[in-house]
Amino acid sequence: MYRTHLCGELRASHAGQTVTLAGWVNRRRDHGGVAFFDLRDRAGIVQVTINPDLPTEMLDLVADVRNEWVLQIEGVAQKRPEGMENPKMETGEVEVIARNVIVLNPSRTPPFMVNTDNDLPDENMRLKYRYIDLRRERLTRNMVLRHKIVKYMRDYLDEKGFIEIETPIMFKATPEGARDYLVPSRIYPGQFYALPQSPQQLKQLLMVAGMDRYFQIARCFRDEDLRGDRQPEFTQLDLEMSFVQRDDVLDLVEGLFTAMLPEVAPHKKLFSSPWPKFSYKEVLERFGTDKPDLRFGMELIDVTDILAKSEFKVFQSALEAGGVIKCIVAPKSAEMSRKELDALTEVAKSFGAKGMPYLAVTAEGVKGSAAKFFKEEELAALKEKTGTGVGDLIVFASDARAIANKTLGGLRLWFRDKLDLADKNMMAFAWVVDFPFFAFNEETQTWESEHHPFTMPKMEDLPKFDTDPGAVLSDAYDMVCNGYETASGSIRIHRRDIQMKMFQLLGLSDEDIQKKFGHMLEAFEYGAPPHGGMAPGIDRLVMLLADEPNIREVIAFPKNQNGRDVMADAPSEVEPKQLKELHIKFS
Ligand code: ASP
Repeated sequence: MYRTHLCGELRASHAGQTVTLAGWVNRRRDHGGVAFFDLRDRAGIVQVTINPDLPTEMLDLVADVRNEWVLQIEGVAQKRPEGMENPKMETGEVEVIARNVIVLNPSRTPPFMVNTDNDLPDENMRLKYRYIDLRRERLTRNMVLRHKIVKYMRDYLDEKGFIEIETPIMFKATPEGARDYLVPSRIYPGQFYALPQSPQQLKQLLMVAGMDRYFQIARCFRDEDLRGDRQPEFTQLDLEMSFVQRDDVLDLVEGLFTAMLPEVAPHKKLFSSPWPKFSYKEVLERFGTDKPDLRFGMELIDVTDILAKSEFKVFQSALEAGGVIKCIVAPKSAEMSRKELDALTEVAKSFGAKGMPYLAVTAEGVKGSAAKFFKEEELAALKEKTGTGVGDLIVFASDARAIANKTLGGLRLWFRDKLDLADKNMMAFAWVVDFPFFAFNEETQTWESEHHPFTMPKMEDLPKFDTDPGAVLSDAYDMVCNGYETASGSIRIHRRDIQMKMFQLLGLSDEDIQKKFGHMLEAFEYGAPPHGGMAPGIDRLVMLLADEPNIREVIAFPKNQNGRDVMADAPSEVEPKQLKELHIKFS
């Protein structure tokens, strides 16, 4: 038997018991002939004391032991002498007095320290030795948290009548707006499987198959540009339900997350229950983004009416071009330095603004680039509408509505970070509904689906399909949290005629439709039930609950930011023989 107890589970109540432990040396210290090993396993760390009264051969063996060696230790648990307890350790009231030490495996000096989060090497080094990195308490905790979250989801959904069904990884292109990863077929020269960008089509086909309520902890594969915090493969809680309307799906998911939060992350507070629900239009107007961070105020305020007759040229020309004037009020920021304001103007420009007029409200009056153009009554009305007080900074965006919103939405987050306005322990879940059905791609001058092409339009908007596609709304919804999109979903098209129309509007030829989606259209001819679902992203959720800055910290073996697995060194070249079998030739 390797062990009787786990290191991390020992408490004062175990005092007097003989225990056998197995684990890694987290840290070794020597004090006046006594050696202390902090022995670590997944459950935690406990102090082992090696007294000099052990047999000499054992003391000789122990002398060589270094950090990260794997030991088996038999000893007696005892309460630490008074004053020697370590309140920072969960096992801090006990120690194990060793009677026998067995080296199960020595270790080379690890490339970085496991017993601290300080002095970590660059991320590639951590990823190359991920199996060592994962030993760090923090990452171990993240893996355990991830497991708890997924288990909670499974149990909750099982309770609600869902069944977990696996769908194939080798399938056919399933569009979610990214490029596909392809798998060449050896048996069918020149033909390829595609890895699913999501199980979207398959879960819909499961509804046609009468499975009623499906879920899967599903891996999705999307070959996207590696901007930001993305992974080529990521995990979703994919779910689908039959005979439901929008709010049935939202209530189910809201119920799951609301119940889960206190169980898996008790230190997190829910911002609001029930969750707020915004239309896409409203959320853009108020927060300048479709994934608002609701943990703080600073909403966008439309002041077009107040400044309609402004003498300020910048405002005038924006209004003449059909634009709007909006602002946000940053608290305690009137004294920002010229340099900071210049930097902020650059941020505004990165969102498409031409500049960033501002007014600093000080005890001596208003100051700022636009101050001299403001009439007394304009200032008074502005202060009244925005609730601005002494010490505040008003930042304007005057432009086409979309650019003004985007600019102020971006600046709002900049102030959030600078002024530390958002409570880290708050989870501000919300719903965004009533998305536009189509997005117009200016580059290709074509309509694209805003979500995916299986999303149901609002039935009352069907007549606008041909006349005014831009005004058609969809039965799609997003779940957002703290400025992230954490899930999206929709009620689906289950009628063949509407689905066909959708594909045609997206510019697909009848032949293409048949080739790519013939199986879906055909399935809809065999009694497809009304259905809908959604797919919360698991990586991001765990990241938020674990207080981590990016999703790589909560994925066991992530790719690095350049899409490489630096541990196994993948992607990598393959044998010419394999290429030949797959009928692949490089020119
Ligand atoms: N398949 C969608 C996605 O991956 C989610 C859904 O509509 O259920 O975003």
